[in-house]
Amino acid sequence: MSAASRCKRSAPDIDVVVLEQTSDVSYSACGMPYNLGDSARSMEELVVRRAEVFREKQKIDLRLGHCVNVIHRENKTVTGRMSSGDDFELHYDVLLIATGARPIILDIPGADLPGVLPLKSLDDGRRMKSYIADRKVRSALIIGTGYIGLEMAEALYELGIRTEMAELLPRLLPWMPEGMAQVVKGELESKGIRLRLGVDVKKIDRQGEQLKVSFSEGDAATVDMVIMSVGVQPNSELAEAAGLELGPGRAVAVDRYLRTTDPEIYAGGDCADAFNVITGERVWVPLALRANRAGWAIADNVSGRQVELPGIVGTGVFKVLDLEVARTGLSVEEAGRSGFEPVENYIETRSRAHAHPGNQKVHINMIGDAKTGKLLGAQMVAKEGVAHRINSVAVALHAGMTVSEFGQCDMAYAPPFSPVWDPLLTAGIQLLKKLP
Ligand SMILES: Cc1cc2nc3c(=O)[nH]c(=O)nc-3n(C[C@H](O)[C@H](O)[C@H](O)COP(=O)(O)OP(=O)(O)OC[C@H]3O[C@@H](n4cnc5c(N)ncnc54)[C@H](O)[C@@H]3O)c2cc1C
Repeated sequence: MSAASRCKRSAPDIDVVVLEQTSDVSYSACGMPYNLGDSARSMEELVVRRAEVFREKQKIDLRLGHCVNVIHRENKTVTGRMSSGDDFELHYDVLLIATGARPIILDIPGADLPGVLPLKSLDDGRRMKSYIADRKVRSALIIGTGYIGLEMAEALYELGIRTEMAELLPRLLPWMPEGMAQVVKGELESKGIRLRLGVDVKKIDRQGEQLKVSFSEGDAATVDMVIMSVGVQPNSELAEAAGLELGPGRAVAVDRYLRTTDPEIYAGGDCADAFNVITGERVWVPLALRANRAGWAIADNVSGRQVELPGIVGTGVFKVLDLEVARTGLSVEEAGRSGFEPVENYIETRSRAHAHPGNQKVHINMIGDAKTGKLLGAQMVAKEGVAHRINSVAVALHAGMTVSEFGQCDMAYAPPFSPVWDPLLTAGIQLLKKLP
């Protein structure tokens, strides 16, 4: 919808048709965990713009309940089926594939039982909200400890639901140092959330009104609801069947103009890949800003302005109970895999000036390249001062700064917000000591 809206704004004469298989458009998926954590809020609050507004005010031909099944590149048409059961066919001059991603559902017995719920679409959110309220859910198991799983742990805690999390890996957040991940683990456990790390979920059985989740070790958890949160995969099958190239994670491969391997077909959002600015490699990082930005760039390119996107550095932030957790750039393992000679340095510093009330511990891991001195990435955890601070590292990565240059940046100081030397400057200066 970002692409459609911008296209109509800059080139009103272009006929823009949007085909959407569901009856929802333009809502904040990112707000769903917070909405679910507050039983007084309606899911409908997350709708940003209603279909009628797109149609009436923006003159976009938005057709809901239209699922595209095939792209016919040879005659530039798409065919599909409407929710009424009727088939449709539509010609295009230029096509945008913006089919997003879908939740991965583990291939285990019982994954389809009522009460085993993913969280991706607004309908998933509605379903989960009703399930929690109607069944008076008192206990839940979250499978997966990615950012959506962790945000849901907070939501369930807010609702007073006894929560457990099961994770296949032996630790949380493998892209950050073990010590930092322990801080996140400690926060979850301090709020009574039980973590089962290094366990494989084998099956889910109905047990009366509840669900019994069995793990590889023979252990089991009996809960009222299971949240399936083991990641997403791109909806790239339409593109693949049409012979378009796929990239990492099987996302649709696009160039810096967001064109697929067919110059008349663009792809953007969670279904498409991007270039990593630091490595120049293709990556698949399905997040909201890139999706919106890709939509704008595609609209500009279609309406005659040439827009090239440099790419992403992989910046992300999320909240886990009282903690802010963020990352940007490469982890030390990713940097090693991309041919750098990564050096990392993990520090603990403070969020405010010495002795200023409310001072909190800030954990920062910063990574630089021993060969070039370049800054490669950072991860941060703290009760405050992480969410926006990480953006300055992201900007430095886009600018290709060295760790030394980053350490020389003029950053703001006042006692309630930071020590004289901002925590990131301290991290940079300490990392510099480790670099040759
Ligand atoms: C719970 C949750 C929390 C999140 N939190 C954050 C966050 O804090 N920060 C962040 O950056 N990102 C977050 N995200 C990710 C963010 O929501 C996505 O990156 C963004 O929504 C992607 O937009 P999109 O348009 O590519 O895909 P979508 O919003 O998924 O839209 C794709 C649309 O295509 C439709 N479609 C698919 N196939 C077809 C077909 N064949 N025919 C017709 N229609 C089709 C789908 O029905 C869907 O409506 C979160 C996601 C979730 C689920």
